[in-house]
Amino acid sequence: MKVFAVLPAAGTGSRAGFSKNKVLQKIGGASVLRRTASAFARHPQVDGVLVCVNAADRAEAERELAGLAGTACCEGGATRTASVKNALEALAALPCPPDLVLVHDAARPFVSQELIGRCIETAARCQSAVCALPCTDTAVRAADGFAVQRVEREGLFTLQTPQGFSFPALLAAYRKIGPDDRFTDDSGVWAAFVAPPKLFAGERGNVKLTFAEDFAMDGYRTGVGVDTHAFCEGNEVVLGGVHIPHGRALRAHSDGDVLCHAVMDALLSAAGLADIGHFFPDTDPRYEGANSLALLAEVRALVEGEGFAVNNVSVSVVAEAPKLAPHIAKMKQNLADVLQIPQHAVGISAGTNEGLGFLGRGEGIAAIASATLCSRKSL
Ligand code: MG
Repeated sequence: MKVFAVLPAAGTGSRAGFSKNKVLQKIGGASVLRRTASAFARHPQVDGVLVCVNAADRAEAERELAGLAGTACCEGGATRTASVKNALEALAALPCPPDLVLVHDAARPFVSQELIGRCIETAARCQSAVCALPCTDTAVRAADGFAVQRVEREGLFTLQTPQGFSFPALLAAYRKIGPDDRFTDDSGVWAAFVAPPKLFAGERGNVKLTFAEDFAMDGYRTGVGVDTHAFCEGNEVVLGGVHIPHGRALRAHSDGDVLCHAVMDALLSAAGLADIGHFFPDTDPRYEGANSLALLAEVRALVEGEGFAVNNVSVSVVAEAPKLAPHIAKMKQNLADVLQIPQHAVGISAGTNEGLGFLGRGEGIAAIASATLCSRKSL
């Protein structure tokens, strides 16, 4: 099954009060557009990402997307509907068009890998998949500034993206749109020309950045984390998700990735959350031999759930052996991928303890990490 994502990004910054396209604004170290596109480019079931941009933004957008595999730009239109139509026609012209297409607001950079996976799974099963949240606020209809009518909240949903569809059916629906038809999203097009779209559970963290205050970063939060593991019998150590051949292993309940553990504690601490022993207790059999990169992904989800975006992490590893320098590039890539930040926002250094103390005697490895988070809401 071939899956493509389409990201309409041809808007302006007018509602957010910016002089330029809001998705080119940076949050922490990376632009909104890059964060969103990288979430789809990284997903194992997504084959390609097509970003719709205005001619004026194209050069900057292409710079922002540099290095993201399978990502390309196409021409945006005067409306969101026109942009998506252009992208669908571009996909139809491919030698092998996709089976499914996911349309996602470029201004929702906090979309999770799980949400993308749920969208693909639902669209493959039901032809359509629209991310929805039950309405939790009281809803009313207003006239002249007065709430004239209560709207029953039961059964009321707000729709987000991603929205996934059978590609040939969505393309056929878009080709039926008349010059006076107006749609705010793709589920509207599907409802008008195909059938009521299937809903699936959205996530509260998948917010759309619309107004200037959505981008307002109330400064940064920092956290530190330290971890040490002793050597035991074995033939490799795992650091930053890289398996490094060595005459010993690190004693641990999980894979013993002391580098990831220090980073996890730094992130949790910056968010004011409890430490990794609380979230991943070593008495829990679920974490026996656990892949620490997967635990790091859970930590990212935890801090994002608190309203933060990871800005950067920095970690220093103290080990007499093995030699880490040849592996640092791969470790940085692993951490950047899991934390959804650019590689230049991951710092990793390694050194020895000059023969001093338990680290100097080669009895184990220690790591010290710091992390900064930026917040997406007032705290
Ligand atoms: Mg540990």
